Amino acid sequence: MSVRILPDFLVNQIAAGEVVENPASVVKELMENALDAGADQIVVDVVDGGRTSITVVDNGRGMNRADLEKSIMRHATSKLPDDDLTNITYMGFRGEALPSIASVSDVTIDTYHAGEPNGWQLNATTGEIKPSNWDSGTRIRVQNLFAKVPARLKFLRGDRAEVMSVLEIVKRLAMARRDVGFVLNNKWFFPKNQDLLERMAAVMGDDILGRMLEINADSGSTELSIHGFISEPTLRRASSVDQFLFVNGRPVKDKVIVGALRAAYMDVMHAREFPLCALFLGLNPHNVDVNVSPAKTEVHFLEPAHVRAFIIKTLRARLAETMNEHVSVSQNMVDAPVPHQMNLSAGIRNCDDIKNFNNSSVMRVCDSGGDYNKKVFDNRASCPDFVINNQEEPATRVDVFDDMPLGRAIGQIGDKYILAEKENNLIIVDQHAAHERITYERVRTHAIKVQPLLTPIVVNMRIEDVNAIMTVVDELKLSGVVLDAFGDTAIAIFEKPADWDLDWAHLLHEIADEVRANGHSVQLNEKLHLKLANWACHHSLRAGQKLDLNQMNALLRDIENTTRGGQCNHGRPVYKVIPIADLDVIFERS
Ligand code: ADP
Ligand code: MG
Repeated sequence: MSVRILPDFLVNQIAAGEVVENPASVVKELMENALDAGADQIVVDVVDGGRTSITVVDNGRGMNRADLEKSIMRHATSKLPDDDLTNITYMGFRGEALPSIASVSDVTIDTYHAGEPNGWQLNATTGEIKPSNWDSGTRIRVQNLFAKVPARLKFLRGDRAEVMSVLEIVKRLAMARRDVGFVLNNKWFFPKNQDLLERMAAVMGDDILGRMLEINADSGSTELSIHGFISEPTLRRASSVDQFLFVNGRPVKDKVIVGALRAAYMDVMHAREFPLCALFLGLNPHNVDVNVSPAKTEVHFLEPAHVRAFIIKTLRARLAETMNEHVSVSQNMVDAPVPHQMNLSAGIRNCDDIKNFNNSSVMRVCDSGGDYNKKVFDNRASCPDFVINNQEEPATRVDVFDDMPLGRAIGQIGDKYILAEKENNLIIVDQHAAHERITYERVRTHAIKVQPLLTPIVVNMRIEDVNAIMTVVDELKLSGVVLDAFGDTAIAIFEKPADWDLDWAHLLHEIADEVRANGHSVQLNEKLHLKLANWACHHSLRAGQKLDLNQMNALLRDIENTTRGGQCNHGRPVYKVIPIADLDVIFERS
């Protein structure tokens, strides 16, 4: 095969493969162009999720006839007047977006530039330009997206899902540019000149108010600075949807910053929960390269370790301040609850106290066939009670557990491992892994009993969350949850799995967060299923949770009764058996 120079239309379609992924990426490029043109009001309309048409109208400076003609040519840009790629102040600079979009859709541009006798209209498909009565700013209309490349059309998701992605883009730019007003589909409004907190509330929801911590620091020079807000540890989301990061004003999704954010919250938030934030990082433009990916959401720092350390230090210091505030508040409170352990030790002052305490401790051993929830969480479960009496011979004491492979629970360490004793073995159980395994097996093997509700449960949500939930309606149905949109801002649940009385509002918000962050995937159904089941288990038993002995024993019995109970769903071990002989070796007894 001989080497050939590709024709322009093909080069553009190939470039479009990178730049134009979906309607949201079209909107992103068009909005960035509007911002670069100095607009302070941008109106976006998306019809049929963007398939039929995407229109972006701005009040920027517009284009004269000559520029309009060049704008849809490849590598044509007005944004690199000199050849310095290190000092990029515009959002776009590649001159790729318009020709790429035009190669996979029908683009019409109306624009007016001061000094021209009239506005102009360009039909990008025919290349024809004619006078128009357009008299301010620019309107770009993209119709029949991907009609020319049907293979790409197949990858578009449902209308609601595509609109949601568009909304996320609008939000990101709205966070970046508070001086500009944005409107999407006449439903979402982000007025111009909001202050940062007002904008954050408009974008993330009103629940953030009063719960964000201000950040303002520089590294001692003007080379590196950070400002914005991060959430108190008690305010978090199930995904990273509400994390807004900017480098020199440009929205980014950067691994260095995300990693630093996670590290800063490591001690105060579970790894699967996400803090909210709007963080603006300022750097000398020579210390950062924004010219990394065509979608331009990644950056390269010259000194990533320095940036990371600076962010972690700043955020940790701010989080520590609030922790101290909380501690001193509770210390000042006369009725501050006394931690459980202190109660115990305070009550035990002499040998008699210890004896009484031991004599009165009641241990509940459950039969191993029953329902997990009931055994662990319902104290009314009909299990026989055994009084552990210290005076008894050890042999009698262990009897009850002799037939049980994982033996008798003797305690918990680090609030995450259960220690058990069985014959001549010490057994260490990872309680979280065990819980996951049990839940997963339950979900896998039990058909869900669905219960229709006499009165539907109505959960109020923002429009975007309702949209998110509606994109997974079928998956939820498979998991026994039948629901529908109830107007624009609520969801009504009509059927639910029997006996699952959950905090539905909280659960639906979590699912919405995840769908908005990760989109719709084939694994979603399994994940939702598991998530619902997890909630059914009272969202409980994580590492970090204190258990009493009867809860520990109930958990041990459940692992014994679970298929593949030795491993969690991710293949990690659930328990380890350490023979006392091995301990003897450690203590040099053998
Ligand atoms: P880039 O933004 O990288 O320069 P584009 O293909 O997105 O490349 O746009 C090409 C050119 O068209 C821009 O450089 C700009 O001069 C002009 N242009 C595009 N959109 C607008 C708009 N909304 N208002 C004014 N000029 C625009
Ligand atoms: Mg552009």
